Formats: sequence, structure tokens, C-alpha cells
Amino acid sequence: MKTSMEFSTRTQLLSVVVPCFNEEEVIGETTKRLRLFCAELQDLDVELIFVDDGSRDRTRQLLKGFALEDPRIKIIGFARNFGHQIAVTAGIDAAKGDAVVLIDADLQDPPEVIHEMVAKWREGFDVVYGTRTERLGESAFKRATARGFYRVLNRLSDIPIPLDTGDFRLMSRDVVDTLRAMPERDRFIRGMVSWVGFKQIALPYKRGERFAGESKYPLRKMLRFATDGILSFSTKPLQISVAMGMFSASLALLGIFYVLFLRLFTSIWVEGWTAIMIAVLFMGGVQLISVGILGEYVGRIYNEIKNRPLYVVQEYLGFEKSGPAMSRSPVMVNR
Ligand code: UDP
Ligand code: MG
Repeated sequence: MKTSMEFSTRTQLLSVVVPCFNEEEVIGETTKRLRLFCAELQDLDVELIFVDDGSRDRTRQLLKGFALEDPRIKIIGFARNFGHQIAVTAGIDAAKGDAVVLIDADLQDPPEVIHEMVAKWREGFDVVYGTRTERLGESAFKRATARGFYRVLNRLSDIPIPLDTGDFRLMSRDVVDTLRAMPERDRFIRGMVSWVGFKQIALPYKRGERFAGESKYPLRKMLRFATDGILSFSTKPLQISVAMGMFSASLALLGIFYVLFLRLFTSIWVEGWTAIMIAVLFMGGVQLISVGILGEYVGRIYNEIKNRPLYVVQEYLGFEKSGPAMSRSPVMVNR
């Protein structure tokens, strides 16, 4: 497929997807840097798709202003905040490019690195993912939890997911089309891309500091994200709860023999309150944990079968009249 493209005269298109949530302080600079990057690109057209994830500040207003100046800028405006991974999904759904790049709005991922990604793509790679060699300006806590998370995830996950890798990456049309055919709603994009396969390669880069503003990923969102990552790519927690059940059941069996022995052959069977308490508490704990884990999976099944649209788009700006091709038919609210 690639060779036929090389011979065609059509200029290839690169889609850059930028999720934004309350980024009024950085969005101007980001747009500037991205447009500079576009100017440096030779023989490649670019569309810049900004997904406004229900910002409550002036982000969308500013974006609309930039779109007036530059026809390459397109905007998808969500009706509310749906979260980073869903915003990225909407961008991927709408992208028309032969390759799609995902990049954060806060300039932590330097746009210049995309040149190297494009070069690798032209060499024939389908996924070029940025791996962070350094993380500047992030708290020791964030770095440590992120490091720990990627390692735990890799242990548990049924497929290998590259370490220290975020969503900053380039994907070929083949990969994007496959992603679009994956309808799950607890979306952990970096894991889904690993799952897809094709030729993938890591590209080390220095992750910079946020240009301005503060992280839109508070601890609560990070925990949710980590749980999604683990539960969407592994059923090991269920196996762990079975193992815990087995373990406590065997202990309980030993305990039963012990108690019976005391009752039948000795006269000290009145005692044992301690043992009962331990057994009750231990079993209760194990059961609650197991039910909780089970509940998480059941909750996810419930969420899937409701089959709601993944996101609600209030407005598409800069796309062709017919609207972007969409696989998940988001609800459109026109005002
Ligand atoms: N983001 C989003 N929706 C959210 C939270 C974040 O679209 O609910 C965007 C945000 O605007 C940024 C990217 O996702 O472009 C990464 O967020 P952030 O930089 O706050 O996360 P961090 O780099 O601190 O992990
Ligand atoms: Mg950031």
C-alpha cells in the first residue's frame, strides 16, 4: 500500500490531534509553535485538529480566532469535559491524514520531534511512540508514581506496553483505521495501540516542562486512568482474587481440623475466641476485596452495554460540510 502512495502525485496529509482542557494560557503559544512546525515541513500537508474537551475558560474562543487566520486549523468542541483519552479518540475519528500525530497542548511534547517521527514513518514504521528519557518540571511524586505505574501495568498486562511512554506518537492510517474499529469505552489509547501491532518503534525524547498553567490531571484522574489501564488490559486482578480465596480457604481448612481436634480430644475447646476473630476478619477482608474487584469488571460490562455515544460534539469547525467521517457516530448538538 505504501509503495502505491509513493508513486501517486497527491501530497500526503499529516493530521495533528491536540486535546485541550482549560488551556487558555498555553494555546496561543502552542498554535504558534505548531504553525512554525508546519512551515518547516516539506511535501506534506497538515491539518491541525484541536479538540476542546469542554473547557470552561477562553480556550475555545481563542481557538476560533486562530482558525479564522489559518484554514489548516479545525476544531471539535465537546459539549462537556469527557476526559483526555476520549478527546484524543474524537480527534482520531475525525482525522483524514495518511498519518496521525497525538500531542499534548501544553508543549511538554516538543512539536519539533514530529519531524523525526515523520522520518521514521517514511522508513516504513506504522507507530512511532515517544519515550521519555527525562521529565522536566514534574514533581518527584508524579515521576515516581508514573514510573511505578508503567512497571506494574507491564507485569499485569496480557500484552507488553512500552515503559515510560505517553500518548505522544505518530500512527499510520492502517493503525488509525484499526483503532477506529475498537469500540470500547474505557479507553487506554497507548495500550490499544500496542495491542494493534504492526511495525512499532520507540523514539526517545526529553519531555519538557509545561509551558504555562497547571496539570489537568489531578491525582483523582490519574488513579482512574491507572485503573482503566490495568483493568482494560488484564484480567489478572480476578485471578489474584481467586488466589487469595484459595489461600484463605486452605488456612480455614487447617483451622477447622485444629478446632475439631481440640473439641474432640482435649478439654480446652472453650478458648479460641482469638482464632475465630482472626478467621472472620481475614475471610471478610478477602471476600470484600474479591467482590470489589469483580464489581469493577461488572461495572465496566454495564458501561459497555449501555452503548452510549462516546462523546457529544457541540460543534465541528473547519471540517467539510458533510462533517468528518465518524465511526462511533457521536451525538451532535447544533446551536
Ligand atoms: N486534557 C484534556 N481533558 C482532560 C484533561 C486533560 O483534554 O480532562 C488535555 C490537556 O489539555 C493536555 C493533555 O490532555 O493537552 C495532557 O494533560 P496535562 O498536561 O494536564 O497532563 P500531564 O502532562 O500533567 O500528565
Ligand atoms: Mg502536561
